[in-house]
Amino acid sequence: MGGITREMDVRTSILIQPIGYVEEFILEELVQLISESIEADVILSSTRLPPNLALYDWNRGQYKGELVLDWINKITSNYSFDRILGICGFDAYAGNLNFIFGIASMYTGKCLVFLHRLRSEHRLYVQRTLKESLHELGHTFGLHHCVNKRCVMSFSNSIIEVDRKEARFCRVCAERASRRGLVLKEPAILET
Ligand SMILES: [Zn+2]
Ligand SMILES: [Zn+2]
Repeated sequence: MGGITREMDVRTSILIQPIGYVEEFILEELVQLISESIEADVILSSTRLPPNLALYDWNRGQYKGELVLDWINKITSNYSFDRILGICGFDAYAGNLNFIFGIASMYTGKCLVFLHRLRSEHRLYVQRTLKESLHELGHTFGLHHCVNKRCVMSFSNSIIEVDRKEARFCRVCAERASRRGLVLKEPAILET
């Protein structure tokens, strides 16, 4: 695991950790686009984690989102990154939701995005993954769901709602985020 822990730094550091089959272009573009949106060092993990079949619900054909988050939290507990963003190449559910696009913990700073329902043609797939990644990272900084449907922190119940929102935070969310250490760059904030 050497080489993926870092010295303490004032700048926020985010590790992107692929889990299961994840297209390389998604990872490369995500590093680039998150770096352009957030004042942070965004690092792609050199490891590729296989999914943990013990966390698979064979009846539903989906992973149990909360358990995957707990598992990743344990695996990365000695990492010195401020945030861990797990990019999962599979489908998951949580609680009474049929599926989830992502899940996050503001207590551990770990979050996950599930690609299964985001997959599409290249550009749309990248945009969807960026939106859900910014959304889950926002939760790790204590942001809640936003009523502004254009804001990336609005809750998406369907892929249509993911496509409808922007890969940006509204002013209210951006101000709240900055008080909690998530400093956004200009492209990540809605103009209005
Ligand atoms: Zn959310
Ligand atoms: Zn907002």
